Amino acid sequence: MQNRESVLSKAKHEQQSMDSIKFLTKNKLDDYFLAEVIDQLKHDKDDKRYAQEVGILNEIICNLEDNVEFSGDKSRFVVLPNEYNFLSQNNKFLWAEYLIFRYKFRIYPKFGRLPDFPIHLLIEPVSYCNIKCSMCFQTDADFTKPPYMGNMDIGLFRSIIDEAVENKCRALTLASRGEPTLHPNFAEVINYARGKFFDFKLNTNAVSLDEKKCHQILQGEVTELVFSVNAVNKNEYQQVCKIDKFEQVVNNIKQFHRIRNKDYPESKCKTRVNGVEYGPDFSEEQFLNFWDKIVDNVVCLKVFKRWDTYNNILSSVSSPCALLWQRIYVWFDGTASPCDRDYKSLLKIGNIRESSVKSIWNGEKMNLLRKKHKEGFRSCFFPCDRCED
Ligand code: SF4
Repeated sequence: MQNRESVLSKAKHEQQSMDSIKFLTKNKLDDYFLAEVIDQLKHDKDDKRYAQEVGILNEIICNLEDNVEFSGDKSRFVVLPNEYNFLSQNNKFLWAEYLIFRYKFRIYPKFGRLPDFPIHLLIEPVSYCNIKCSMCFQTDADFTKPPYMGNMDIGLFRSIIDEAVENKCRALTLASRGEPTLHPNFAEVINYARGKFFDFKLNTNAVSLDEKKCHQILQGEVTELVFSVNAVNKNEYQQVCKIDKFEQVVNNIKQFHRIRNKDYPESKCKTRVNGVEYGPDFSEEQFLNFWDKIVDNVVCLKVFKRWDTYNNILSSVSSPCALLWQRIYVWFDGTASPCDRDYKSLLKIGNIRESSVKSIWNGEKMNLLRKKHKEGFRSCFFPCDRCED
C-alpha cells in the first residue's frame, strides 16, 4: 500500500480525465482538501442516513485512498473539478450524499447497474435554435420543421420535475436539441427547478444571453452554466456558426460573470465553455488560453458525427451504450428518448404525456434496448448500429 501523500497526488493527477470530456482548466483540488473529504466520508459511514449505501461509501473511500494506482481501472472513482466545486461550496453534511449520487452517475452505467429511476434527466424546453453550427443537427433541413420544432408546455415541465424530485433524481440538464434560453417562459422554467437538484445544468450558445436572462439564471440557482462556443476568434466563429456574433457572445459571457460577481457573491453557479475537437486546426492550448481568463472551467469534447447520425457509416463498436443505464432525454412534446444522437427519435421509448418517466425507464422498449446492447447486438437498432458511443 502506498503512503497517503503519494496516493493523493496520483488521485489529483487522475481527475483530469473523464471519458469523452477533458477538463483543460488547471485542477484546484489539493491533497489536504481531499484528505478532509476522505475523513468526512469515514465519519459518515456510521450515519443512519447512509445505512443502505455503506457499500458505495466504502468503495468511494477505497478508490480515493488506494485504488487510484490501477490506471485504466473503470471502477476507479476520483474527484473531478466540477465535483470539487460542489464539495468546496457546500456544507460537509452534504458531501457523502453528493458523492454517492456522483458515484452512481459515473460508475453504475459502466457496469450496467440499473437504478430504478434515471440518474440524470435531460429536458429540452425548446427544440429550435437561433444559430446553425456546422457540427450540429440543426443543419439538417428535415429536422428544422414540423413536427420536430416547438416549446415545452410549462405544465408538462412541472410534472416531470415533480416526478424527478419524488424519485430523488439529483441531476437535471436543460438543453438537448435546442437553445433553452429561447423558451417564452424561460424564467418560470428555471424557477420551477430551482434548488431541487444537486447538479442543475443549463447549456447555452450565449447569443441571446442578455442582462435579464443572466439574473434569471442566477436567481434560479443553476449550478453549472455551459457555453457552447467553439471558437477563439471572429473568423473561426463565423466559419463554424455562420453568423457574425463572436464579439456579442463573448461580451454576453463577460457580462454574466460581472453580474454574478457583483450582485450574487454567494452564487454557486460555475461556468464552463465546451470546445469540440472538430478538426486538425483545433488547438487545446489556444482554446484554453483564450477562455481561461473568461470562464471558470474550460473543457474539450471528443468530436462525433452527431449532425449526420443517420448517414454515418456502420460502427464496429459492440459494447453496450452506457447512456441506457444513466439517463433519459425528454423532448419539448414529451417524447422520451435514450439519447440525443438520435435527434429524430427513431429509438423513441415512450411519451411522458402518456406514461411516467419511471414506467418508461423500466418499460419494455428500454429494457429490450439494454438487453440487446448487453448481448452485443446493438447493431439491431438504427442508429445504434452507426454510433461510436
Ligand atoms: S444511438 Fe444508440 S448507441 Fe448511440 S448514444 Fe443513442 S442509444 Fe447509445
